[in-house]
Amino acid sequence: MILLDGKKTASNIKDEIALKVKSLKNKGKKVPHLAAIIVGNDGASLTYVNAKVKDCKQVGFDSTLIKLSKEITEQELLSEIDKLNKNNDIDGFIVQLPLPKHINEQNVIMAIHPDKDVDGFHPTNVGKMALNLPTFISATPFGILELLGRYKVKTEGKHVVVIGRSHIVGSPMSILLSQKRTVGNSTVTLTHSRTKNLKEITLQADIIVAALGIPEFLTADMVKDNVTVIDVGITRVDDTTKKNGYRLAGDVKFDEVSKKCAFITPVPGGVGPMTRAMLLKNTLLARINKE
Ligand code: NAD
Repeated sequence: MILLDGKKTASNIKDEIALKVKSLKNKGKKVPHLAAIIVGNDGASLTYVNAKVKDCKQVGFDSTLIKLSKEITEQELLSEIDKLNKNNDIDGFIVQLPLPKHINEQNVIMAIHPDKDVDGFHPTNVGKMALNLPTFISATPFGILELLGRYKVKTEGKHVVVIGRSHIVGSPMSILLSQKRTVGNSTVTLTHSRTKNLKEITLQADIIVAALGIPEFLTADMVKDNVTVIDVGITRVDDTTKKNGYRLAGDVKFDEVSKKCAFITPVPGGVGPMTRAMLLKNTLLARINKE
C-alpha cells in the first residue's frame, strides 16, 4: 500500500508557487493578492479561513481577511463582494461557506466576478470546467487530480466510483475524471444517497472517491483488492482524549480498507492540504491571467 501523502505533496506545490512569486517580484510585477470573506464565528470555518491566510503568507502572496457579523444582510454582503470585484489590487477572492441561513448562497456565488472566482464555484467557471476549457477548477477536485497525477496513479480506462454528488466535490470530480485529460479518461459511476446496492458498485471500482461526510462509511468488505481510495471526508468526531475535544474522521475506515489498497489518502494529511494548495494555484493563475 502506498500512502498518497497530501501534506508532503501540498508542501512541494507551495514551494513551486513561492518560486513563481519570487520570479514575478524579480521582474518588478505585483504578487498575487487573495481576499477571503468570512461571515460569523463558526469554529471550523474560522480555522479553514485562517489556514488559507497563513498559506498566502507562506508563499509570498498578499492576503486580506474580511470578517463580517453573522447578522449582516444579504444585500450588505453583496455590496462587499462588489467592492472586491472592483478592487484592482485583489486578484481573486473567496467567500467561506457555509453562510448563515438568511443568506442565499447561490446569489452570493453568482455575484463574484468569474475572473476572480478562485474557488471555481461560479456557473461560468463550472460550465467551462464541464466543457474542459481553461478555468478555475474548484480546489478539492483539482487537488485530487494533482495528487493522482503526481503519484502516477493510472486513471485511463479505470472504473472510478465517486460517492457523493455535491457541487463542490462529487459532481465536478465525476466530470473531470471522465474527461479526455492526462489524469482522466476513466469510466465514472457517480453514486449518492439514493443509489441502490452501493456495495455492488464499489466492489467493481478500481478507484473510489469517498465524499459523503459520514465517518468511516467505506469498509473493507465494500472494496476489491488493489483499489485506490481517495478519502475526502472531514468530520469532527467527539474525542475526550484530545485537548480540543474532537478528532478529524474521514469517510473511510482506514485501518481495514488500507490493507486492501494500492494507494490511499490519509485523514488528516490527504485531500485537505491539497485543497488548500490548489486555492493558491488558482490565485496565482488569476494574477497571471491579468498580465
Ligand atoms: P455534501 O454534504 O454536500 O453532500 C454529501 C453527498 O453524499 C450527497 O450528494 C449525498 O447524496 C451523498 N450521500 C449521503 N449519504 C450517502 C450514502 N449513504 N450513500 C451514498 N451517498 C451518500 O458533501 P460535500 O460538501 O461534498 O462534503 C463531503 C465531505 O467532504 C464532508 O465530510 C466535508 O467536510 C468533506 N470535504 C472535505 C474537503 C477537503 O478539502 N478535504 C473539501 C470539501 C468537503
